[in-house]
Amino acid sequence: MKTYGNFIANTWQDAIGGEQIAVRDPSNGEIFARIARGNRDDIDLAVRSARSALGGQWGQMTATERGRVLSRISAAVLRNIDLLTELEARDVGKPLTQARADVVALARYLEFYGGAADKVHGDTIPYQNGFTVLTIYEPHGVTGHIIPWNYPMQILGRSLGAALAMGNAAVVKPAEEACLTILEFARIAEEEGLPPGALNVVTGLGAEAGAALSEHPDVNHISFTGSVRTGEMVQAAAAKNAVPVTLELGGKSAQIVFADADLDRAMPFLVNAGIQNAGQTCSASSRILVERAIYEDVVAQMSERYRALRVGPASADLSLGPVVSHRQKAIIEGFLADAAKDGLKIAAEGEIVADAPADGAYVAPTLLRDVPHEHRTVQDEIFGPVQVIMPFDSEEEAVRLANGTAYGLVCGVWTNDGGRQLRMARAVHAGQVFVNNYGAGGGVELPFGGVKKSGHGREKGFEALYGFASMKTISVYHG
Ligand code: NAD
Repeated sequence: MKTYGNFIANTWQDAIGGEQIAVRDPSNGEIFARIARGNRDDIDLAVRSARSALGGQWGQMTATERGRVLSRISAAVLRNIDLLTELEARDVGKPLTQARADVVALARYLEFYGGAADKVHGDTIPYQNGFTVLTIYEPHGVTGHIIPWNYPMQILGRSLGAALAMGNAAVVKPAEEACLTILEFARIAEEEGLPPGALNVVTGLGAEAGAALSEHPDVNHISFTGSVRTGEMVQAAAAKNAVPVTLELGGKSAQIVFADADLDRAMPFLVNAGIQNAGQTCSASSRILVERAIYEDVVAQMSERYRALRVGPASADLSLGPVVSHRQKAIIEGFLADAAKDGLKIAAEGEIVADAPADGAYVAPTLLRDVPHEHRTVQDEIFGPVQVIMPFDSEEEAVRLANGTAYGLVCGVWTNDGGRQLRMARAVHAGQVFVNNYGAGGGVELPFGGVKKSGHGREKGFEALYGFASMKTISVYHG
């Protein structure tokens, strides 16, 4: 059993309060590691470490040198792929194939932002005679990163990669449910020459370490991914220090299937985007809207795929692993209990394998059909392997249903009518629209973020670099 401390100024430190948190494997309920239960004092130490990095070796590096460090770390992440894959699978409950894809994504984020570090530059601006005006980008300073448990490595990679590329120094607060790969990442980053204080990781509970980071007066930017409720609290805390916040708060994303769509191509996306990572994906497609003429056909084809889904331990690498915790399982079962109480119809379910350990947090994937638009399973993020499917009769109705939730993260549109593709893409409330594909998070190149309750600000893509910098305008009068 391994015990991890906090990572501050390139050293491992026990929590100042001396407390620890047990880490459970959701596949079998066993405790297999311990992490530090950091609090306000640990966060304060980490913020001071980041601040001093900005005035030290890290702050003096050129953009090119920062990019090279990120590229080296990227390569080292890939060298550690087996270790990181197994750890992520065990910690989150992800099937090994998914965990491995997450390691590759982390390396890719660092490769992308490493290469981009010295390609961000300002402008010269035409102004009055006798003036030269230019803009430059400067790092915000100390950036706080509050990371959820569903994709620890990927979500770390996208925000930390951009923040470090721009020259910020980071304090990361991973989720208490799953943070071990982030701690191993810190070790790898140090081995590859990341100067002390550029990256600090404090583990602990959200209400303790997370809250302390979001309200710390010497933090200059907060990047948060997680629930709407917590995101609103983080934004309120940061507002007291007038600090910018990027919020990525999940969704209730729809895929809209018109009768002229290529169903053979659509079918794997319709199911996989709902059950990938046991549905614990902010961009999961939890709603499927289908034009009535092909509705029964789509329900039948999706049901067949559902009945073939197998759920079991992460190490068995089946279609789904367990969900992250028994707490998350109880949330999902609460939705399914409401569905049963309200007489909703189950189109099909997947199967939990017979030898799945009794203490694992397993949930059978469930497809609910003909669900009333107002029902909680249609309106609220379930964050589990549950999809709802319902018919529509016109393009207008499809748009109304798609836009009829509080969220606006992703939308998928399946049609071969070119005009409709663009009409729909423009009409739906979403930060990203996929036409005849559903890329979930998409690649690192694609800016990603939400509208409405799905949050604001963009991560990923070249765009994200500007979010981790502040623009300075320099106006020189020279006559
Ligand atoms: P959460 O939002 O509470 O946790 C996310 C992160 O925020 C964790 O690191 C947590 O420690 C931290 N946190 C918690 N309370 C905090 C506070 N007061 N101040 C600062 N940081 C705090 O999410 P959860 O409770 O783990 O999951 C609940 C629901 O959130 C899920 O069912 C799901 O709907 C949603 N969720 C969404 C995402 C996403 O990717 N958008 C990720 C995880 C969870």
